[in-house]
Amino acid sequence: MKKKCELCDSPAKMYCDSDRASLCWDCDARVHSANFLVAKHMRTLLCRVCQSLTPWSGSGPKLSPTVSGTLRLTMWNVKTVVLGFDK
Ligand SMILES: [Zn+2]
Ligand SMILES: [Zn+2]
Repeated sequence: MKKKCELCDSPAKMYCDSDRASLCWDCDARVHSANFLVAKHMRTLLCRVCQSLTPWSGSGPKLSPTVSGTLRLTMWNVKTVVLGFDK
């Protein structure tokens, strides 16, 4: 049984500890671009296979693998590609 995003029915892609909520990419972008305070929430990626928490986390208005600009996110992109996280 796949964990679902708490705001829509898409499969959850990350977990926000501050919100205690699992979110998909779209809802993450919507929720965390609301203001600079929520943009600071650390979100942890979920494994795309078993949806357990992975060691990869980040913050920002949008936790998308297509976003670059910081070293962490750049490194994260590499791991994203290697592990095959999809969008
Ligand atoms: Zn969603
Ligand atoms: Zn949050």
